[in-house]
Amino acid sequence: MDEILELSAGVVRTSRTMSDGRTIRYYDTDAQNRTVADQRPAEEQPGIGELRLDPLVNEWVVMAAHRQGRIFLPPKELCPLCPTTGDLLTEIPEDNFEVVVFDNRSPSLRPPEGDFALPDMVGSDTDEGVAAGKCEVICFTADHGGSFKTLSPQRVRTLLEAWRDRTRELSQQPFIEHIAPFENRGEEIGVTLAHPHGQIYAYSYLPARVVKMLSIAQAHHAKTGRVLFDDVVARELRDGLRIIAKNEHWVAYTPYASRYPFEIHVTPLQPVADLAELAPAACDSFPAIAIEVMQRLDGVFGIDMAYIAAWHQAPVRQGRDVLRLHWQITSVRRAPGKLKYLAGSESAMGAFIMDMKPEQSAQQLKDVKL
Ligand SMILES: [Zn+2]
Repeated sequence: MDEILELSAGVVRTSRTMSDGRTIRYYDTDAQNRTVADQRPAEEQPGIGELRLDPLVNEWVVMAAHRQGRIFLPPKELCPLCPTTGDLLTEIPEDNFEVVVFDNRSPSLRPPEGDFALPDMVGSDTDEGVAAGKCEVICFTADHGGSFKTLSPQRVRTLLEAWRDRTRELSQQPFIEHIAPFENRGEEIGVTLAHPHGQIYAYSYLPARVVKMLSIAQAHHAKTGRVLFDDVVARELRDGLRIIAKNEHWVAYTPYASRYPFEIHVTPLQPVADLAELAPAACDSFPAIAIEVMQRLDGVFGIDMAYIAAWHQAPVRQGRDVLRLHWQITSVRRAPGKLKYLAGSESAMGAFIMDMKPEQSAQQLKDVKL
């Protein structure tokens, strides 16, 4: 059954059920009718994975062994994220689309059956949990050869509206505690599908970096009455050296203590907890800075940079007064033909070493002629 919902910025969402029971959501701006049915035979859904606690650091690890068989870098004519045209039945039944979001076919996290609770953390005696949550795929365009930086401003606005919609809706699920939309790009970092797309991970627990940021932000707030992230942004604005783009509502900078050859944070100047809280004016001015940042990143060496672009949001139920929305883009590319590998110090010790200062990467990004 179709469900139609009007969102902001003239975006309309049509939700439909796929043949195996998953949901696909079309985000459209041109009054399209989405009526084409998924013609593929229903396929059995894999079971839910396990959550195991690494008691040495109190961090949850997801065991999703069923994901091993998933498709790896198919040629364009077999791309499951292209619209359905001709004989190949893809994940998207329609022959065109603007932005779509659908439930991941081999999800690491999935909705639990019945009530869900995390096991108590009691060291090496901690019970095994179920990998509750939700994983969705978001396609940015029907154009297989496109990329974020070649999207139109209107398309980026639609994409933002889709991220906001998913954040709002997933936040209402009782088993979801944290929502992270992200994009991985480039074979260098393990992307298995070249089609421009991202993912939305909705976790039933707080990921390790969020736990750490939350406790530090709470301590800072208790001591100073201020929000740490706001202090960090104020310092970047004061220093000015590492700012690579700015408009009335957003600023983009390479952070003072960047950990990657190219790390960029894009943050709203009016702080908010999550995407859903962004004001209309901030939403409308996001596409310009987002596209500029991606063009600068690819412009540095004149090649498509491998990157991870992830939205950090406050958790659904905790720390909403002390954690802030920001978009973190990191690239391991330090020169053409050279990648930064997370080796002994970074991987084993968590101690990052940088060969290059963020003031240098900021200058390189600023020097790109758009
Ligand atoms: Zn494709």
